[in-house]
Amino acid sequence: MDCEICGRKDGAMFYISIEGARMSACGNCSRGAQIIGKIGSVIDERTKVSTPTIEFKEKETEIVDNYGKIIKDARMHRMLELKDLAKQINENEAYLKHIENEKIMPTIKTAKKLEKELGIKLVNESTVIVSETNTITKKENFSLQDTMEKDDE
Ligand SMILES: [Zn+2]
Repeated sequence: MDCEICGRKDGAMFYISIEGARMSACGNCSRGAQIIGKIGSVIDERTKVSTPTIEFKEKETEIVDNYGKIIKDARMHRMLELKDLAKQINENEAYLKHIENEKIMPTIKTAKKLEKELGIKLVNESTVIVSETNTITKKENFSLQDTMEKDDE
C-alpha cells in the first residue's frame, strides 16, 4: 500500500488520523500524527495473492441487554422510590420508568449516572479490531493513475 501523503510506493506502515481524515502513511509521514492502526496484508492460502489491509481499533460502547431489570433490582434493593432516584440523578421520573420497562434505552450519559448512583454496570466498553481491505475503497476514486499502478500489485 502506498503512502497517501508523500506517495511512497508500498511505503505505508500506519493508518493515521489527521484532523479527522483517516489515511495510510509511511513511517516518516506518520510522525506527529495520531496513529490509529497499522497496515498489514492478508495472503490467500490458495492463490497466494496478497491483499493489503488496514487494521485499526475501534471503541464500542453499548448498553447491556437487561438494563431495565438491573436498574430496577438495584433500586428495589436500596428501597428507593423511582421519583427519588430521578431526583438524585436529575432525570425525569417518566423517562426512568420507560428505561426500567426497557421501552427506551438510556443514553450513555444517563446510564453512567445510574451506574454511579446504584453501583451497577450498564455500559459495556470494548475495543474491537476492525480489519478492512483498501482495494474496495480505492475503486471509488478510480483514476488513470490507479490503472497504471495496478500492474505493480
Ligand atoms: Zn510518506
